[in-house]
Amino acid sequence: MDLRNCRMCGKMFQYVGQPVCPGCMKAMEDKLQEVKEYLREHERATVGQVSEELDISVKQIRKWVQEERLMFAPGVDTGLVCSKCGMPVESGSMCKKCKESLKKTLQGVYCPTPTSQEGEPIQRKNAKMHYKRYE
Ligand SMILES: [Zn+2]
Ligand SMILES: [Zn+2]
Repeated sequence: MDLRNCRMCGKMFQYVGQPVCPGCMKAMEDKLQEVKEYLREHERATVGQVSEELDISVKQIRKWVQEERLMFAPGVDTGLVCSKCGMPVESGSMCKKCKESLKKTLQGVYCPTPTSQEGEPIQRKNAKMHYKRYE
């Protein structure tokens, strides 16, 4: 069993991949909901405003935005930048352009088969089903 000290309250807890204890996790979730509620009422709120009004660190807010669990209005400076090209981003860790190019790269890696062989996987599937029936 992996016991660690909670990074927020210092209590010992069983580590399951999060640096904070379940109690603090729950508190953070509540805070996140509070922020979402606040943003619904104050559409143009900035990160600094939310941080001040709800007493949450800017760092935590940015983390949520980075994890795409929180969205600010378009044009609001979240202080986040693309991890590839350094352009400001509204959410996540990469700008749209870099995300797109990454997607293309990944597709290139996972689907290297040229389009001329498109019908092949279907044939293979049928053959397998056939084979199973005679097993
Ligand atoms: Zn804790
Ligand atoms: Zn970028």
